[in-house]
Amino acid sequence: MPGSKSEITLIGAGLAGSLLAIFLARRGFRVTVYERNPDMRRHVTPAGRSINLALAHRGLRALRAMGLDEPVRKLLIPMRGRMLHDERGRLTLAPYGRTPAEVIHSVSRPGLNHLLMDAAQAAGARILFDQRCEDLDFDTGTLQLCDERENRRYSVQTAPFIATDGAGSAVRQAMTRRLGIQVVEDLLPHGYKELTVPAGPGGRHPMEREALHIWPRGGYMLIALPNPDGSFTATLFLANEGDPGFGTLGKPDALLAFFKRNFADALALLPDLEAEFYRHPTGLMGTVHCPRWHAHDKALLLGDAAHAIVPFHGQGMNCAFEDCLILDQCIGKHGDDWERVFTEFEQQRRPDAEAIAEMALENYVEMRDAVRDPKFHLQKQLGFLLEERHRGVFVPRYSMVMFHHLPYSEARRRGAVQQAILDELTRDAHKLEQVNLERADTLIAQKLGDRPSLT
Ligand SMILES: Cc1cc2nc3c(=O)[nH]c(=O)nc-3n(C[C@H](O)[C@H](O)[C@H](O)COP(=O)(O)OP(=O)(O)OC[C@H]3O[C@@H](n4cnc5c(N)ncnc54)[C@H](O)[C@@H]3O)c2cc1C
Repeated sequence: MPGSKSEITLIGAGLAGSLLAIFLARRGFRVTVYERNPDMRRHVTPAGRSINLALAHRGLRALRAMGLDEPVRKLLIPMRGRMLHDERGRLTLAPYGRTPAEVIHSVSRPGLNHLLMDAAQAAGARILFDQRCEDLDFDTGTLQLCDERENRRYSVQTAPFIATDGAGSAVRQAMTRRLGIQVVEDLLPHGYKELTVPAGPGGRHPMEREALHIWPRGGYMLIALPNPDGSFTATLFLANEGDPGFGTLGKPDALLAFFKRNFADALALLPDLEAEFYRHPTGLMGTVHCPRWHAHDKALLLGDAAHAIVPFHGQGMNCAFEDCLILDQCIGKHGDDWERVFTEFEQQRRPDAEAIAEMALENYVEMRDAVRDPKFHLQKQLGFLLEERHRGVFVPRYSMVMFHHLPYSEARRRGAVQQAILDELTRDAHKLEQVNLERADTLIAQKLGDRPSLT
């Protein structure tokens, strides 16, 4: 365990950096966090960047390890399923889990980040705001910073570093420049735009509160997550090029016609559509593939800095929080032998980061397209029925990712076996009653019988 003088430096006080600061401070490290932005608790966060997020079991488990699940619960709104809006405004609720306890939660990004920063400082971490990391020398352990308030450049010699500076990580860029690491940033040809559905009269939610609303339209979709003040934050996911695409919505007439045609019921709830659409930035999404996450005992990338993913499984933050928990376990084993800590963390986490990156991409197709296919709903229902019949053996993949904490890579492997079973069982079935359950039992015993139980 660290001595009283063991220091560690984090870069970025976002979601992962603030939570990690708590883990490290509680272990007795002297933690300093350099954050490029002003203190968000005193400044309004600019709109347009995922104001609310889905928090699931993995994220909550990491928060619980720091005793934060209770304070965080006050910020949460449970979402029991996807509320699907078809072109005619008809609604269908597709539950996320088999039991009422299997829900995910909408949480405000700034609300959660504030709470984590408060807890990090209470645990003894120092957060220095307006300090942007510009470069890092991995040989000498020198960090180059810019004080954004004074526009003053300076350097500090302090290692090790953990980079929690997000998808565009400056530390990852320094690793590319200085260590020749070839990073692939796989940008999606689709972007996103955030919009506001204001609260209804009396601060009431104007749509079902406890659901993640989706308007799936094939190649694109609109979604909305509830906020505690009665509003929803809606996000349009759409191709950047082509028709329809962000490029074709440059004029208000085209925008209005697009929404009337595709999201008529939502349009009635978006009074500021035009102003927000042209004011808010169009966000980029992509997957970061970085072949190396650490530089000897000097630096480690964690969270989005190491493995940013597309947002369609609602797991980027959950995965980053789980990273904090796993890193803490590695420190528990190896103390401040950073080379061993970083190596073991990377070995353990890489297959899981790759698995959730793939599943997140697959989920985009599911959310915007597959949910419109009756076969998808039949397989969902069948999945829950098989889960009930074979507790802990057959667990739908979505549930393994969102409500369990087996490694993502194992969830993906088991999910592939289960999908093959579902495909076979529903090949000629249109209704649940037409599924041969004896055949299901045989297939499950054959293909999943030797897997550890998930209960
Ligand atoms: C549209 C959208 C929806 C999403 N929805 C979900 C969801 O529902 N559920 C979920 O789990 N995940 C979701 N995510 C993913 C989630 O936002 C990220 O995975 C999560 O924020 C990662 O946390 P992080 O701390 O690694 O990075 P960030 O939260 O990006 O934090 C990085 C921090 O580093 C700071 N920083 C950056 N550069 C520097 C620098 N040079 N010097 C100093 N500081 C720096 C930043 O200011 C920031 O404070 C979504 C993402 C998007 C884009």
